[in-house]
Amino acid sequence: MRARSTPRLYVFALCMGLLFGSAAAQAFGPDGHRIVAALAERQLAPATRAEVQRLLGAQASEGLPGLANWADEVRDQQAWRHTSRWHYVNFPRGTCRYDATRDCADGRCIVAALTDQARRLADRRLNDEDRLLALRFVVHFAGDLHQPLHAGYGDDRGGNTFQVFYIGRGSNLHALWDGGILRSSRLEWPQHVERLSERSTGTGSADIAWSRNAPVRWAEESCRLIDSAAIYPPRPGKLPDGYVADHYPLVERQLLIAGARLAALLDSALAPDRRRR
Ligand SMILES: [Zn+2]
Repeated sequence: MRARSTPRLYVFALCMGLLFGSAAAQAFGPDGHRIVAALAERQLAPATRAEVQRLLGAQASEGLPGLANWADEVRDQQAWRHTSRWHYVNFPRGTCRYDATRDCADGRCIVAALTDQARRLADRRLNDEDRLLALRFVVHFAGDLHQPLHAGYGDDRGGNTFQVFYIGRGSNLHALWDGGILRSSRLEWPQHVERLSERSTGTGSADIAWSRNAPVRWAEESCRLIDSAAIYPPRPGKLPDGYVADHYPLVERQLLIAGARLAALLDSALAPDRRRR
């Protein structure tokens, strides 16, 4: 549908956005997660790849993209409702310094969840079923944490209540960053993977290495992008001209960095001795 500027349609769409947009699940869109997983898969050390395939078992043919969205698919189910806060962390507006007591009570935020699930994935005393579960979470959260509004401000729920109007529809800033900007390319997700794989220098000076403290750094880095990349338009409503095109390169960069960091995490968790082999 083409963008229309009739005031009545605009108000209607904005109301629909208020009704449905704010209820949207907080999640990097399905394609974003598949792209991050596929980019990571291409960078794995051979020993890591073998261990991933073993853990995936019957699902091995789908690879990491096949499990990348599972955590979003189950988060509203009774059995997994306790994980719904594991997908994001909220900071007080204007601060991007992680404080576990303030920002992650009882370990219920993406920083603690990613750290904990990476540790479980690496723990060979756990059974394969538990480690496969950890793999599902790790692949998903590595994507979420690189969507800047998954480390956003609590007062508008990471942009979920900041309404925007884009190509004839009411939406919200969070949903736009989850998937709307990426979809503007009209590419299918495997095409994105091919396109981004050709850009080996795309991660620039980003620190890719995995460590226990990495999720804190990644969250603070994502949060700082909110200001440094002018993620908030000056006001809610119709997006400024060029907003999506201007921010598209940042979405691609975040996907590239997330893929490289997820690969480093998986190598560390699943094949820590690979250099000695
Ligand atoms: Zn998510």
